[in-house]
Amino acid sequence: MDRKTFLKSLVPLVAAVPITAANMKLNELNKMTEPLGKTGKMPVFFLGHGSPMNAIEENEFVLGFRNIAKEIPKPNAILCISAHWETKGTFVTAMEKPTTIHDFGGFPKALFDVQYPAPGSPDLARETKELITKTKVVLDDKWGLDHGAWSVIKHLYPNADIPVIQMSLDYNQAPQYHYELAQQIKSLREKGVLIIGSGNMVHNLGMVSWNRLNENFGFDWAIEANEKMKKFILNSDHKSLINFRSQGKAFDLAIPTPEHYLPLLYSLALKDEKDNIKLFNDEAVAGALTMTSVKIG
Ligand code: ZN
Repeated sequence: MDRKTFLKSLVPLVAAVPITAANMKLNELNKMTEPLGKTGKMPVFFLGHGSPMNAIEENEFVLGFRNIAKEIPKPNAILCISAHWETKGTFVTAMEKPTTIHDFGGFPKALFDVQYPAPGSPDLARETKELITKTKVVLDDKWGLDHGAWSVIKHLYPNADIPVIQMSLDYNQAPQYHYELAQQIKSLREKGVLIIGSGNMVHNLGMVSWNRLNENFGFDWAIEANEKMKKFILNSDHKSLINFRSQGKAFDLAIPTPEHYLPLLYSLALKDEKDNIKLFNDEAVAGALTMTSVKIG
């Protein structure tokens, strides 16, 4: 894959203007009940998704995703915050059958052939909207599942038998805002909902070593940033992670734009004091990406 092709593949789709919930009738709103019963508290994941090719390759990262799913109870539903859905405002997918979005170009046909036909969950979408008071959440019926979601979730649950919804990233908002927004959906953990942030802690496509794409190595600054991030995560120093723009040059290089990093803040915001932290897939790839993933709880 050449550089141009890979870059093109990672340009997020221009966000479609979602249909609002304007025509949702009032009585439907009133009828809203809690669709998911109370369960033991679900863990939370942050998954480093890396190249879309991880969706169809067999490698150590895919194995890591499979193994982590085996460690947790089967969820009732999944809510994914993906780096690849940036919008003005906050949207939640609310369709019955989300389509598999191939939001990249220049990859082999086999990748475009992948379908992940997990059902949606309009009930969970409505419940998520209800929980969030920080901003107006719009129920969306246009998006679906982008590769930030399906390329990893397909390894966790290959049978596509668990409903999946996505929540968008509001590109106008500051890191602290995203962290506080995520805190508002914490109670979904008690209802068997697996919340997944999908991005990459270190993600600088402009500095990726394109002739060594499949090699596990990181430039000094990538390793430095990744190590510091891990330390902050393990110490629950979320403040330093939220203030990532004050962490020096290595962080600036690791996070040239915030969309792949912000899903980490969503996942960390859902951590309870007593939750354990487990790091996995902790490898740098092609110099300027890290696949480091986190299990919370
Ligand atoms: Zn990505």
